[in-house]
Amino acid sequence: MRKCLRCETEMVENLTVMVTNGGYGIDVREKGMFKGSLGKIKCAVCPQCGYIETYIDDTGKIRKLALENK
Ligand SMILES: [Zn+2]
Repeated sequence: MRKCLRCETEMVENLTVMVTNGGYGIDVREKGMFKGSLGKIKCAVCPQCGYIETYIDDTGKIRKLALENK
């Protein structure tokens, strides 16, 4: 469960971020032309104040990358 950072209301999670007029969403990639996706961006919205938060569901790849960069 995600709480709003601003007003501490329970957020609506697992929403999809989409490019306007497109159906493909956006994802996070490692820097470099042929690097793979680190995960699709998900979104949570606070129904109280409208605050929007983005996150990725599967943190496995970013954890691995964080370890490699140490
Ligand atoms: Zn809020």
